[in-house]
Amino acid sequence: MIPITVVDVRDAEPLVTEVLRSGVIAQGPMVKRFEDEFAKVAGVEHAVAVNNGTTALVASLQVSDLQPGDEVITSPFTFVATLNAILEAGATARFADIREDDFCVDPQAVAAAVGPRTKVLMPVHLYGQTADMGALIPIAEQHGLKIVEDAAQAVGATYEGRPAGSYGLGCFSLYATKNITTAEGGVITTNDATIADRLRVLRNQGMRQRYQYEVAGHNYRLTDLHAAVGIPQLEKLTELTEARSRNAEALSKGLADITGLRVPAVLPGRSHVWHQYTVLVGDDAKVTRDELSAKLTEKGVGNGIYYPKVVFDYDCYRDNPGVIASDVPVASRVASQALSLPVHPKLTESDVDTIVGAVREVLEG
Ligand SMILES: *Cc1c(COP(=O)(O)O)cnc(C)c1O
Repeated sequence: MIPITVVDVRDAEPLVTEVLRSGVIAQGPMVKRFEDEFAKVAGVEHAVAVNNGTTALVASLQVSDLQPGDEVITSPFTFVATLNAILEAGATARFADIREDDFCVDPQAVAAAVGPRTKVLMPVHLYGQTADMGALIPIAEQHGLKIVEDAAQAVGATYEGRPAGSYGLGCFSLYATKNITTAEGGVITTNDATIADRLRVLRNQGMRQRYQYEVAGHNYRLTDLHAAVGIPQLEKLTELTEARSRNAEALSKGLADITGLRVPAVLPGRSHVWHQYTVLVGDDAKVTRDELSAKLTEKGVGNGIYYPKVVFDYDCYRDNPGVIASDVPVASRVASQALSLPVHPKLTESDVDTIVGAVREVLEG
């Protein structure tokens, strides 16, 4: 079986052992070191480590000074954490449809969704490519919106040379299957020193000095044990991303010109870090997306459906006043056609050949 993802953190052993021996296992010097290195790698001034990507989003909204009923515009085609974070922060989620070329919010749909209560724009840089920031920034500026980027899948991605996570508040996940992992973990990036400071205080029960509370805070801290797992990966992020890119390129070459199959595009001005390699299985393909997925599994080719439905289309959100459901035809169709194939750095050339051969067999055989 060629797995859809492989977690390899074996090279973290020396640093993890160092933390274990030090006795400082909760947030301490290793978290600080991780933050400093992450900021460098991400091309931002400040990185604040937190305990997961979802809390990165929640904390970012909490320092965005929202009032109940204030709205956040985001993508309907995302992992559920994006929506849950908005609700957790007490805000209301409104959705702008996506474009099928980058799977991210369509700037025109965002402009149309802006209303008097809109305060934050939360684009999701899905699969490792940024949203169309060049078109989104003027909309945010025109309406005075703050930008909180869900960059959970996009560490290292750029738009016209500018890194994901540098447009406002950048929220990254360090979950086990993300491009860089600490098992569980998250990071918030910003170029605003005041906001970084507020986040650090919020993360630690609202206190700067022991028992001196400045705000009602929370425990969002990452541990030194987790930070130690992530540091060696930060040091080889370029290498890991290059391996993903090579695999993506080979897949796209091998999968070109199959009726009904659309391979993912790298759009002009953007770099792609290939968190996922996601194809679209169109109506003119020989089998449906679900059939292709099942057949690939049978053939030992791991694959994943990210995501099977638009994020608000579940009973638990139906009567939630914080969820403004809307018609999102592109996202709904893409959710029925998207299939992710293995692209992780551990793939061999022969794995890529196997994946390509299996897809061709199902769609052309
Ligand atoms: C993984 C992910 C998150 C949440 O991160 P966790 O670390 O799992 O909490 C949020 N948004 C997107 C798009 C993700 O892929």
